[in-house]
Amino acid sequence: MGPCLYNPDHLFKLVFVGCSPVHHQLESHSQPIQRLSSLVFLSEKEYKVYSERQHKSRERDHRTIGYQQKLFMTHKLCAGSPIFLPRGTRLFLNLKKILRREYALYDYEEVITPLVYEKELWQNSGHWELYKKNMFLMEKESTGLKPMNCPAHCLIYQSEPRSYRELPLRFADFGPLHRNEDSGTLTGLCRVIKFHQDDAHIFCRQDQIYCEIQTCMAMMEKLYKLLGFSYYTVLSTRPEKSIGTDEEWKNSEQQLKMYLDTRGSPYEVRSGDGAFYGPKIDILVEDANGKRHQTATIQLDFQLPSRFSLHYTDVAYKKIRPVIIHRAVLGSFERMIALLIEHWEGKFPLWLSPTQILIIPIKHDSEKQLEYATKLSRRLKLLEFHVETDFSKDAFVKKIARSRTLYNYILTVGDREVLQETVSVRPRSDSKVLVKKIDLFIEHLQKERAIE
Ligand SMILES: [Zn+2]
Repeated sequence: MGPCLYNPDHLFKLVFVGCSPVHHQLESHSQPIQRLSSLVFLSEKEYKVYSERQHKSRERDHRTIGYQQKLFMTHKLCAGSPIFLPRGTRLFLNLKKILRREYALYDYEEVITPLVYEKELWQNSGHWELYKKNMFLMEKESTGLKPMNCPAHCLIYQSEPRSYRELPLRFADFGPLHRNEDSGTLTGLCRVIKFHQDDAHIFCRQDQIYCEIQTCMAMMEKLYKLLGFSYYTVLSTRPEKSIGTDEEWKNSEQQLKMYLDTRGSPYEVRSGDGAFYGPKIDILVEDANGKRHQTATIQLDFQLPSRFSLHYTDVAYKKIRPVIIHRAVLGSFERMIALLIEHWEGKFPLWLSPTQILIIPIKHDSEKQLEYATKLSRRLKLLEFHVETDFSKDAFVKKIARSRTLYNYILTVGDREVLQETVSVRPRSDSKVLVKKIDLFIEHLQKERAIE
């Protein structure tokens, strides 16, 4: 045993933080062992700071807020495959809407591809050799659920002759992916079996790589600024198990490094952390506990184009191999939603919020007020606002109190509002109640929702 760094007299408190049975079957008849972990604090003050921080991060945890706000649920019958409830689905679709706007700007084409493919496809792509243990296989291992979209996008590329003039071709795919993760590693929305990515594959010429990396990073920077994230950049290089020649790896690693060096912002190099088909630039974002998660990724790939015999014809009608850039900007929607919940502590800005407006009729038994509330709700929904109405018989004060922080705006309607065609507005950010004409309030909402 090494020397003790701390004087045991200074130890104030021994805090037990975890105790879970860990079943290590070391030998066939060995007993399960139990792992205990503990933290020691040198003063009561340190302990208090720690425990306060723990309490705050538990409150911000996406699983806590997700449950309280009814955003998503998990079930033992589909472990690792979260179920998005109506509000969580709105959040998901809001993100998709923002991405589709960027896709129009950066010239991406969306495609829809199958979930299940014959083994031959995975053998071609190299997944069968190096990724099979992470895949769900069916029918005596003759087909498999897709863990990635790339091979399907290669089939699309292959389906017709391509000319140098068409490139870059950018195929975007929001389809669900399944990866067979160990059940012990599954965590909330951060690590799951079924997930969706804002995935895209760019088929381009060698001379277009640099520009494509630049525009992918520009899209990422713009969106992360909008979402309110700061991030870390990582360059991951050739892993132990990989496909491709030394020359190809060297070339692709150099291209990514050259871009990052020219960009000038700090980045970390992780040797051996690249994908099996190529090196990558990863973007990491911290969660409420300070744990970093990978979100965006840009990966260069010289392997899939040759495995699928892809080519285009150049100006002299010569067949040339294109390069594939695998890229995701938000990464997994599930993980991004977890990070957003924690970042905004469940109080989303209007353009992202799944709970934008709640309408409360002051008297639950007034037909006039109920009719007015329903009409108002329909009008706002047609303008694509997320609106809920509280028709319950609970006391008015109780209704306000329980919804105060969940919605961006609470609109109350009584006889006066019905008569004057107004609403009483309670913004989440302000304790004042403002009476507004409906048209003016809608105009205000539309301005607040609009993003640059
Ligand atoms: Zn891919």
